Amino acid sequence: MSFDPVVRLADASRVHGDGPQAVPALRGVSLDVAAGELVAVMGPSGSGKSTLLNLAGGLDRATSGDVIVEGTPLSSLSAKELAGLRRRHVGYVFQDLNLIPSLTALENVTLPRELDGVRFKDARREAMEVLTEVGLEEIADRFSDEISGGQRQRVAIARALAGERRLILADEPTGALDTPTGDEILQLLRTRCDAGAAVLLVTHEPRYAAWADRVVFLRDGEITDSTSAALESAR
Ligand code: ADP
Ligand code: MG
Repeated sequence: MSFDPVVRLADASRVHGDGPQAVPALRGVSLDVAAGELVAVMGPSGSGKSTLLNLAGGLDRATSGDVIVEGTPLSSLSAKELAGLRRRHVGYVFQDLNLIPSLTALENVTLPRELDGVRFKDARREAMEVLTEVGLEEIADRFSDEISGGQRQRVAIARALAGERRLILADEPTGALDTPTGDEILQLLRTRCDAGAAVLLVTHEPRYAAWADRVVFLRDGEITDSTSAALESAR
């Protein structure tokens, strides 16, 4: 087993905009997330949590410092190479889910894999596996605007997990879910993590952060604190 991190932020900073309007969203953040590790990111609104996740997944680039995913410094990649690495390695659960309402649950999960060049048959098989894993095999053919909020959330998780991605980034994936549904989401992330993925989870809820191996706290774009929470009992 290798101890190389799946993702490493190396003194990564991100300034949005320039001149007097420049907003330093992230300031010199260093963070490693290893395979099998679930790291929760907490902090007030505007502290840089989403920016950190976007950098970690190559959706946005560092202004200075670097981000290394599976040994590859993202600064060394062209935009096209970056998109390829993202599709191969990164599963992203967006805060507002970004499901396509006119597609079925199955099609929502299959689409990114097909865009990645996976053959329809294989993408479909993979999607059914992961929909089964999240308990949605019965509703695979329903349109995403015909299912409940909790089911939609699980479709978004399934889409991020399809294709055995090693880096899972989840920005408040429990959203406005009730507690049992939120716990199910965390269970799914934890299971994938225990199977070897690295997971970064943004959450406001201590209840969900309790599933993490480590919690980092952000304030004004900096990590102010980090805890290897002895939270086994909370699981
Ligand atoms: P969080 O997710 O913790 O709420 P964000 O990472 O979204 O924080 O934002 C961090 C800071 O960067 C905030 O001050 C926010 O207003 C600013 N910011 C984020 N994205 C942009 C952007 N695209 N353009 C300008 N400022 C931004
Ligand atoms: Mg955010």
